[in-house]
Amino acid sequence: MKVLYACAELFPLLKTGGLADVSAALPPALLAEGCDVRLVMPAFPAILDGTQRRKPVAALPAGPVAPAAQVLRGQFKGNGLTVYLVDAPALFERPGNPYVDASGREWPDSAQRFGLLGWAAASLGFGLDPAWTPDVVHCHDWHTGLAPAYVRAQAQARRLAGPASVFTVHNLAYQGVFDSATYALLGLPSAMFGIDGVEFHGQVSFMKAGLQFADRITTVSPTYAREILSPEQGWGLDGVLRARASVLSGILNGVDYAVWSPQADALLAQPYDHDRMAGKAHAKAQLQQRLGLHAAPDALVFGVVSRLTEQKGLHLVPPVLDELVARGGQLAVLGAGDAGIEQALRGAADRHPGRVALHVGYDEPLAHMVVAGSDVIMVPSLFEPCGLTQLYGLRYGTLPLVRGVGGLADTVTDSTLENLHDGSATGFVFNEFSARGLQAAVRRAFALRARPADWAAVQQSAMRQRFDWQVAAQAYGALYRDLRPNTRTVHC
Ligand code: ADP
Repeated sequence: MKVLYACAELFPLLKTGGLADVSAALPPALLAEGCDVRLVMPAFPAILDGTQRRKPVAALPAGPVAPAAQVLRGQFKGNGLTVYLVDAPALFERPGNPYVDASGREWPDSAQRFGLLGWAAASLGFGLDPAWTPDVVHCHDWHTGLAPAYVRAQAQARRLAGPASVFTVHNLAYQGVFDSATYALLGLPSAMFGIDGVEFHGQVSFMKAGLQFADRITTVSPTYAREILSPEQGWGLDGVLRARASVLSGILNGVDYAVWSPQADALLAQPYDHDRMAGKAHAKAQLQQRLGLHAAPDALVFGVVSRLTEQKGLHLVPPVLDELVARGGQLAVLGAGDAGIEQALRGAADRHPGRVALHVGYDEPLAHMVVAGSDVIMVPSLFEPCGLTQLYGLRYGTLPLVRGVGGLADTVTDSTLENLHDGSATGFVFNEFSARGLQAAVRRAFALRARPADWAAVQQSAMRQRFDWQVAAQAYGALYRDLRPNTRTVHC
């Protein structure tokens, strides 16, 4: 089974969120399952830097209105996987974040940039590289949403079967919506611009294109797959999703335990594991020192590693801090994003020096330090397709305190009395999306901490949880086989 994996970001070369972690871990896991997997990505400078042995494959055929582009084939230096690079310097030779400029404004030509990525993926699906034609094109998020539309249009125009397409939604809130004039630039048949196509309230939606034209839709947790069928979480696309519910499923993300494991974490001065926890106390002391928190081994430290957005529910945090601090707790926040949320957290840090610390920015080593050095990792999201930080917290014995939505609900078991009794508790789950709801969960964290034996037992259960990519890769493999039952392969 040949699988082309199309995406816009990849850890550690270019990352704005969990999508990059998934793109780094899932393709190697699919390879281990016997899938012959290759990636296709824009030739962003960071991606080019991370590849070697690049050779031209072919010029991209005429499609969307965009500068001439060619496709290169190369290999990632890190894991040796093959990647096709869409080489269009006028569109992609820009440093930094793939979606916004240095001042945080979206690039004005995003439709052309990601239209071209979708077009390249579809063209590879129809044999642009004669040496390797994929059976399945697997697209990720709106940046690749046009690929299934191009595949469908090509298949119809050329009367060919073409590749099967899978579209994975990592976050339905980001949709790639552009004004209707954009449609003329995309090179899609006019019939596809309609309510059953890529049109969304008179505009062009890349997300909707993926949802309408992919053969299968997946999202990154079973609960989120159900939630997006409702108007509350459907972002205007719940009707489309309900119409396609028979091809929609949820496959939970995994964790790359080579990167996120306390016993093998190169970023920790003193590694630890469930049977030797001294390193965790050391990590806490280091975190407190690094962020200017009081050196208090007994303070219950709450950590946050997150984009600062409304989605993540972090505006609920400042209102609970007076009580959290009064109870002897501390808060360590690493994040970047919304200026208003940053300001509120900054205000709290100023009010509680040595007890509340905010580090603004994107910092991978510090992220490991916060996950390892905190006692509790907070993820009070409004919605959460899967969420990775709670999974990292579990492995590091840093109990997740989460809202019971999406992947958070699927991966954290609340410390209720009955769950404590049967040993299944792994963290704290609350439902009411309000400061009051969060506050009640924070109180329960303090209450459990006051019972050290119970705390240690929950910590041990948390650290024993495994969310292996292999399980996810097997589920994707089954999906591909379902789409292409006659493809000869080893396993996948
Ligand atoms: P999302 O993709 O919605 O941002 P996830 O929980 O799926 O949320 O993934 C977030 C990823 O980004 C995690 O790997 C997390 O550690 C990382 N991350 C988020 N903010 C920062 C930051 N400020 N510095 C370093 N890593 C961060």
